[in-house]
Amino acid sequence: MDAAVMDGKTLSAGAVAGVRKIKNPIEAAVAVMRCCQGVLLAGEGAEQFAAEQGLKIVKQTYFITAGRRRQLQRIRNSHTMQLDHDSGTDHPAEDTELGTVGAVALDQYGNLAAGTSTGGLVNKRFGRIGDSPIIGAGTYADNGSVAVSATGTGESFIRSVCAHEIAARVKYCGFSVGRAATEVTKTVIPALGGRGGVIALDHAGRFAMPYVTRGMYRGLIRSNGQSQVWVFD
Ligand code: ASP
Repeated sequence: MDAAVMDGKTLSAGAVAGVRKIKNPIEAAVAVMRCCQGVLLAGEGAEQFAAEQGLKIVKQTYFITAGRRRQLQRIRNSHTMQLDHDSGTDHPAEDTELGTVGAVALDQYGNLAAGTSTGGLVNKRFGRIGDSPIIGAGTYADNGSVAVSATGTGESFIRSVCAHEIAARVKYCGFSVGRAATEVTKTVIPALGGRGGVIALDHAGRFAMPYVTRGMYRGLIRSNGQSQVWVFD
C-alpha cells in the first residue's frame, strides 16, 4: 500500500510506500509529515516508524478480501496491471467499491490539503510504487493554486507529474480548476497511454472531478453539511 498527505499552507508533506502491515497507511503518512524529518518512507522502515508512533500494525491477511482475490486471479498470468475500479466487468460493485481513496479539503481560512491512499494496481510487480505517495504526481496541495488527489494508472501520473501539472496550469496560466484538471486528465494522461481521474479543489471552493474511466465514486460535503455523491456521469 502507498499513501500520502500534503498541507497546502506550509507545503509540508508525508508519505509511505510499499507498506504491507500498517492498518491505516494514511495515518502513517500524517505521522511522517508531523514527526519525521523526511517526506517519504518505504517498506520495512516505514512500518517500523509507524509502530514507533503507536499506529496499528496488522497481519497481511487483514487486507485480503474475496473480491480482490478474484480480480487478481482473473489477470494473474496476463503480465498486465489493471486499475482495480476499471476491469470492464459487469459488476461495478465488486470492481469499484474499494479502490484508491483520495480527499481534498478547504478550511475556513483558505487552507487546502490533499490525501491519497491506495493498494495500487491489481497484479502489480512486487516492489512497484505508484503515483499516490509521490508528491506532485498523485497528491499535491498548495494554497496558492489547488489541492489534487489522483487515481488511475500510476506510471502515467508520475511521468506527467499530474497533480503538480494541474496546480501549475492554475498558478501560471490562470486556468480555472475545472479547465486545468480536465485538460490534464483527459488530454495529457491519455497521451501517455494512461487513464484515471482526479479530484481537485481551489482556495475558493471551486472543484472539478474529471475522469476517463467507466466511473469514479466521488462525493462532496459542504460546510453546512450538505453532501452529494456520484458514480457515473
Ligand atoms: N494510482 C494508483 C497506482 O497506480 C492506483 C489507483 O488509483 O487505483 O498505484
